Amino acid sequence: MVVVVRKDATPAEREAIARTLLAGGHPLLEQAEASDGAQLHLDTGTLSEETRRELSALPGVERLVETPYRLASRALHPDKTTIQVGNVIIGGAQPVVIAGPCSVEGEEQILEAAKAAKAAGAQMLRGGAFKPRTSPYSFQGLGLPGLRALAKAGRETGLPVVTEVMEPGMVETVDEYADVLQVGSRNMQNFPLLRAAGQAQRPVLLKRGFAATIEEWLLAAEYILLEGNTQVILCERGVRGFDPNTRNLLDLSCVPLLAQLTHLPVLVDPSHATGRSDLVVPMGVAAIAAGADGLLVEMHPHPDAALSDAEQAITPTQLATLIAQANAVRAALS
Ligand code: PEP
Ligand code: MN
Repeated sequence: MVVVVRKDATPAEREAIARTLLAGGHPLLEQAEASDGAQLHLDTGTLSEETRRELSALPGVERLVETPYRLASRALHPDKTTIQVGNVIIGGAQPVVIAGPCSVEGEEQILEAAKAAKAAGAQMLRGGAFKPRTSPYSFQGLGLPGLRALAKAGRETGLPVVTEVMEPGMVETVDEYADVLQVGSRNMQNFPLLRAAGQAQRPVLLKRGFAATIEEWLLAAEYILLEGNTQVILCERGVRGFDPNTRNLLDLSCVPLLAQLTHLPVLVDPSHATGRSDLVVPMGVAAIAAGADGLLVEMHPHPDAALSDAEQAITPTQLATLIAQANAVRAALS
């Protein structure tokens, strides 16, 4: 339980809260009394029904909040988190667009993609080297040479790079090349991986599991935060629906909802959400309209030749349109 103390609570009102907590067996006296003039968020653990009732009646208490994810919760951390990657700020005034191919396919391909992404106005480059493919017969990614090629393309274009890490034992290796570690949808509840990513000094982009509730997703973020890594970026990428017309069902309602529930920045991936290049631009724009901090988009310089997720890859021209429209929508709303 989190006890939110009113900012303008008088010393006497603060003391009354501290006394009530102490009487209920919660030794938070010093913390409550020492913070004159500030809005306090007291993390009390479990409270008895009686203590809860007594606290609710005190004038210094703004509200009591029950939250299973204390570190991710906005109730404990009202200020929104912004994450800086190079010169890029995720969660700031400008929507951040991370674009690039589903997979790194070679040095030339990723460099061409990086240049196209930059020219279209993207701020970061994506590309998978270790790919979580449904079929073991599908292209599995280039592995380490792919990571190296991605990092090189990032360096040459000045774009920070995001790439997926699939297993705890690979976090250190991927960390050497990536600016942001991506934990994919299939691994959202791979708890050893979350813990390992939490021990890294890099921002972690945590995709929503394709059948995960928002609470499960925030609890997954909590695993990373608990290890001391405060830089978690959430990414909605659609959940499994019933209609095969789209690959997944993009849950845009989670975007404004997450803004209430968590201080962490939220991106949307309209590519895996829809699985169709013709829907990526409109749904990307809709995500910004819903308040997303940015987009993760699959763009390939030659979509038809893509070795993975070709159907959902947009062209550099479409990416430029998406970015222009996203910026226009953000400007119109701010
Ligand atoms: C990806 O972004 O490369 C990816 C595999 O996405 P997801 O984990 O959302 O399926
Ligand atoms: Mn993909």
